[in-house]
Amino acid sequence: NVRVRFCPSPTGTPHVGMVRTALFNWAEARHTHGTFVFRIEDTDAQRDSEESYNQILDALKWLGLDWGEGVEVGGPDGPYRQSERTDIYKDVAAKLLEAGYAYESFSTPEEIEARNVAAGRPKAFGYDGYDRNLTEEQKDAFRAEGRKPAIRLRMPDEDIAFDDLIRGRIEFKAGSVPDYVIVRPNGDPLYTLTNPVDDAMMRINVVLRGEDLLSSTPRQIVLYRYLIELGVAKEMPLFGHMPYVMGKGKKKLSKRDPESNLFLHRDHGFIREGLLNYLALLGWSISADRDVFSMDEMIEKFDIRNVKANPAHFDIDKAIAINAEHVRMLEPQDFLNRSVPYLHRDGVVSADNWDALTDREKSVLTAAAPLVQSRVRLLGEVAGMVGSLLSAEEYLEPDADANKQLKASAPDVLDKAIEALDAVDEADWKTDNLHETLNKALIEEGGYKPRLAFGPVRVAMSGRRVSPPLFESMEIVGKPVSVARLRNLRA
Ligand code: GLU
Repeated sequence: NVRVRFCPSPTGTPHVGMVRTALFNWAEARHTHGTFVFRIEDTDAQRDSEESYNQILDALKWLGLDWGEGVEVGGPDGPYRQSERTDIYKDVAAKLLEAGYAYESFSTPEEIEARNVAAGRPKAFGYDGYDRNLTEEQKDAFRAEGRKPAIRLRMPDEDIAFDDLIRGRIEFKAGSVPDYVIVRPNGDPLYTLTNPVDDAMMRINVVLRGEDLLSSTPRQIVLYRYLIELGVAKEMPLFGHMPYVMGKGKKKLSKRDPESNLFLHRDHGFIREGLLNYLALLGWSISADRDVFSMDEMIEKFDIRNVKANPAHFDIDKAIAINAEHVRMLEPQDFLNRSVPYLHRDGVVSADNWDALTDREKSVLTAAAPLVQSRVRLLGEVAGMVGSLLSAEEYLEPDADANKQLKASAPDVLDKAIEALDAVDEADWKTDNLHETLNKALIEEGGYKPRLAFGPVRVAMSGRRVSPPLFESMEIVGKPVSVARLRNLRA
C-alpha cells in the first residue's frame, strides 16, 4: 500500500511549485489506490502563519486534491500539524542521544569557522565534527560557561547512495555531508528531524518532493537507518525528486514571481481542470501527441517513474490555451455557475451565485452562454463579453480600441442600419432576420465591405472592438435598446 505525503511549511501564499508537488503526490496515491497524507510542517514560529495555512487548505480544496489522512480529516497517526507534536520529537531526540546516534554539540558558528580557517579548509566547509567525542568533563565545563548544546546527528564515514524514482542512482561521497543539527540549543526541533520522524511515524513509504530537497536526502537516509534501529521506523522509504520549475529566461520560478502565485491565476479565471492539467505537464506527459486531459485520465496513466528529471518550463500562454480547452468542455450551466462570481466581482451582475441572480440576468446569460463559452480562455474574460448584453444602457461609450474602428463612413452606415432596423417588427427581431436585414441594407444596397458595414454596429452594441457575435447579441438585447444604442452612437 503506497503512502505518500504533502507536507508544506505555511510560510507564504501557495505557489505553482508547491501545488505541482501536491498534485503529483495525489495522483500517485490515486493511481496506486494508496493513501495521500497531508501534514503541516509548522515548526518555525517566526516564519509560519495561520493565514498561510488557511490559504494552503483553500488551494487544495479549490483544486479538489483531497487527502485521506491529515489536517482537518484526522487519521491514525495524528496530530498532523508539527506544532502539536513537540513531545514526540523530544522523545525521539532523547532516544537518538542515548543510543549515541546523536550528540551534544557546543561549538558556536564562529568557532567552527575559525577552526576551518586555521586548518586551511574553506570557510564555508561546514561543521568539522569537533564535538563528536567530548567527555562528560568537557561537556560539564561547557555547561559551566553557560553554553547550551545543539544536538547533531552523527553521519557515518561511508558513501551514501539511493535509487531515486525519477533520477536513478544518486551517490554522496563519504565525508561530504557534515554532522548536522537536529535540535537547536533552545530546544526547538528542526525540519531535519521532524520531517523524517513524521514520515516514519506516518508510515510514508514514497517520498516525492522537489529537487531543491535532494541535498537533504543523504542525511535523512542516515537518520532513517537510526530510526529503524530504534524501532521508530519500519522501512526506508523510496525517494523521488521532481524537477525544478523554470520561469522566464533561465531562472527558476521564484515563489515571489507573480506567475507563481496560485491565487492570481484563480483571480484571472483559471478553472481547476485547466490549471491542474497544465501543472501536470510540469515534468510529466500523458503521451507525446496530447496535452489536454482530465484528472481521471491522469490518475489512470500517472506513474512517478515517468516523470522527467530535466527542468520544466512554466509557460503562461500554454497554460491559458489549455485552460480555454477545459472551459469549452464545461456543461453550459456549469460554465455559467462558475462565471458568476467573476461577473459579480467585475460589477456586471447583482449577486455572486447563480441562484441569487435576477430572472433577466439568468435569461440573458443562458442565451449568451453558447456565444461566450467558446470565445473566452479565462473566466475573468466573461464579464467583458457579456457586460453589454446584460446592460440596459442605451449608450455604450466606445473604448479607445473601438473608437479606432469608427471610420469616416460610420455615420452613413449607422443611418442606413437604423433605418433598416426600425422597419423590423419586434416579433421578427431574430438573429437570422437581423443578419439578412443588415446584409441587404449595408452590403448589397449600401455597397460597403463587411468590415466597414458591421464595425460601427458592433461598436454601438458593445462599446468594444471584439464582442460576442453581433446578430445574436442584438437578439438578446432586444429591439428598443439595440436601436437606441445605434442612434445614440450616431448622435
Ligand atoms: N516542509 C518542507 C517544505 O515545505 C517539505 C519538504 C519535504 O517534502 O520533505 O519544503
